[in-house]
Amino acid sequence: MVIGASIAGVLAARSLTRHYDRVTLVDRDELPHGPAARGGVPQGRHTHGLLVRGLQVIESLFPGVTDELVAEGAVLGDMLADGRWNFPAGRLASGRSGLRMLGVSRPLLEHHLRRRLLADSRIRVAEGTSVLDLAFAADGARVVGVRVAGCSGGRAELLAADLVVDASGRNARTPEWLQRRGYDAPEEEVVRCDKHYATRQFRVRKPDRMVVRAVNATATKPRSGVMVRNEDDRWTVSLTSTAGDRPPRELDGFVRFARSLASPDVAAALRGLEPLDDGLFYRFPASRRRRYERLAEFPEGLVVTGDALCSFDPVYGQGMTVAALEAEELGRCLDAGRHDLARRFHKRAAVHIDTPWMIAVGAGPRPMAAYIDRLLAAAVHDPELAAAFLRVSHLVDPPQQLLRLPVVLRVAKVSVGLGRGRHDLEKRLAQRVQKGLPVDAA
Ligand SMILES: Cc1cc2nc3c(=O)[nH]c(=O)nc-3n(C[C@H](O)[C@H](O)[C@H](O)COP(=O)(O)OP(=O)(O)OC[C@H]3O[C@@H](n4cnc5c(N)ncnc54)[C@H](O)[C@@H]3O)c2cc1C
Repeated sequence: MVIGASIAGVLAARSLTRHYDRVTLVDRDELPHGPAARGGVPQGRHTHGLLVRGLQVIESLFPGVTDELVAEGAVLGDMLADGRWNFPAGRLASGRSGLRMLGVSRPLLEHHLRRRLLADSRIRVAEGTSVLDLAFAADGARVVGVRVAGCSGGRAELLAADLVVDASGRNARTPEWLQRRGYDAPEEEVVRCDKHYATRQFRVRKPDRMVVRAVNATATKPRSGVMVRNEDDRWTVSLTSTAGDRPPRELDGFVRFARSLASPDVAAALRGLEPLDDGLFYRFPASRRRRYERLAEFPEGLVVTGDALCSFDPVYGQGMTVAALEAEELGRCLDAGRHDLARRFHKRAAVHIDTPWMIAVGAGPRPMAAYIDRLLAAAVHDPELAAAFLRVSHLVDPPQQLLRLPVVLRVAKVSVGLGRGRHDLEKRLAQRVQKGLPVDAA
């Protein structure tokens, strides 16, 4: 039984089908028949970029899905050749990265994955059905299903299950349901980011090969913008700011805000597009990580995944990818048997969350942050470094890959050009990185 038929729920259900004869998705929404936005996923109409790793994992869970989505109008491109990535030091150098990127709207992606899942006759959906509580065995040690209310109201009904997967998003009520049964709620790490989004849809007038344009915030210009090419010749464009600063959604103000970003890339691209809607807002207060893996006591028969486990500042586009990694991990944990599943899964999921969480909340070690700034400044001139950076930010490679000696030397080489003293600096930088010492001192 999976609570939530959104991205995390659908991907988890796919992994469950290898181990269970029947899987039921329960969602309080009536699910649309086509690729449409819906109330239970209010973020769905905002720009959703799928990280390279996310596409890779989703493709392995649903083989052929990339080509099917392209056949439905999604756009496939190379991360570097068909993307413009602006950082404080400038735009990443153009070149081929070999990293495949898919431009697809969130509603089409979700709809298509759910349709693929439901083609399997062992999957059922209980839509328009809200989960009100978990159902426990008499001794309270095991979850045996969920209590639901149908949309017609009436008394709560029990839906029994061998395993319940909570994929009900960032407002999941599992902590409260556990507490009602005498368990501790998980420790929560909440890191405020207070982001405000304004999003508008546009139609392409003159198609080019670009799939994404992104302008990151800088220390002096804390506003950012991202536009992702979607099916139907559309671009979804989101502008973001923090605290009291709010991007307007009406067209003139939206364009003016885009012009105020650190790079003109997004504003320039808007000029050639036809506006399609009136725009909408979203407010995202904080990244939130629930530490289920640290609980001493946890019932059998329950696991938590997706945003219910960790919800990231959306600016880094990580949520769907982490949900995919967790779904894959759930499959691996089940391959090893059902015993002690929750503890094993939550522990392994925490490992997948660690790096994206560090990126999202900016919790990396100071020397690393200084080194990344240097690397990005060099990547403005060097496509190989640009690709190396994207491989890490898209969760294909671990961050340690950027500390390999050839990469460090390349950063040093590009940084100082061919001038005197280059070898010295390279040597000092390499030594410091290997010893884990601050790089800027070099
Ligand atoms: C503004 C914004 C932009 C984002 N941009 C990106 C991006 O660019 N890239 C990216 O990868 N991620 C992005 N994300 C994150 C992404 O949307 C989520 O990580 C992703 O949808 C996975 O979420 P989920 O399936 O866990 O939960 P959700 O998508 O929130 O779905 C939860 C589901 O559970 C159902 N549900 C909830 N409670 C109950 C209940 N009690 N009973 C029954 N059903 C219930 C809901 O109806 C819904 O279908 C963004 C998020 C926001 C807010």
